[in-house]
Amino acid sequence: MRLRNIPGAREAIETSAWTIKNPEMQKGNWKEVFGNENPIRIEVGMGKGRFIMTLAMQNPDVNYIGIEKFSSVMLRGLQKQDELQLPNIRFIRMDAENLTEVFGEGEVDRIYLNFSDPWPKDRHAKRRLPSRQFLERYDYILKKDGVVEFKTDNTDLFSFALEELEESKWKLVACTRDLHNDSVMNEGNVMTEYEERFSSMGNPISKYIINRDSN
Ligand code: SAM
Repeated sequence: MRLRNIPGAREAIETSAWTIKNPEMQKGNWKEVFGNENPIRIEVGMGKGRFIMTLAMQNPDVNYIGIEKFSSVMLRGLQKQDELQLPNIRFIRMDAENLTEVFGEGEVDRIYLNFSDPWPKDRHAKRRLPSRQFLERYDYILKKDGVVEFKTDNTDLFSFALEELEESKWKLVACTRDLHNDSVMNEGNVMTEYEERFSSMGNPISKYIINRDSN
């Protein structure tokens, strides 16, 4: 998602009480930010943040961190949070390539990837959020029995994501190519902005949940 550049977006993010500046300083100590021992779940590429903010409202005993590369997109989430004042959510403007500098080993309880950019050219495959390069980063920051949940309407990206699991330590816990018609996996589903847009155009939504091999 690339909104036009909004003047002042970067400054608004730098001065917001809900964004974490110098997030690498918190590595290993994220519980201090929230002042409790609740699990920490992150969305990588949160866009305008409706998905993760809905989860934060539904689950006050879980802490959430929305990660987004672009200020103009993140600004929309911050404006909403200024109204809602949810105590259990924070935001980081960063490139997720640096996740392992920001979160310690096993510090994250769950990772959400929603409608990640497809980067269709082969030479950009390593930028795709479900790529093996990103799975390695998730492997470091995710607790041992933590899961990654990935949704997309892009069938090529989903096939790529499944291929990346082969020969890896990651295993499918659940998988569907038509989430909205899968009564089990769709239970409690929270739609993202992109999910609403693409499913209303008739595109089926794919989803997987993965964890690491316990052997
Ligand atoms: N998750 C939202 C949804 O489903 O409505 C937004 C989807 S949008 C297609 C993908 C978002 O991921 C964009 O806002 C983009 O800036 C962000 N993004 C892509 N790569 C990223 C990265 N390496 N680090 C942080 N954010 C990233």
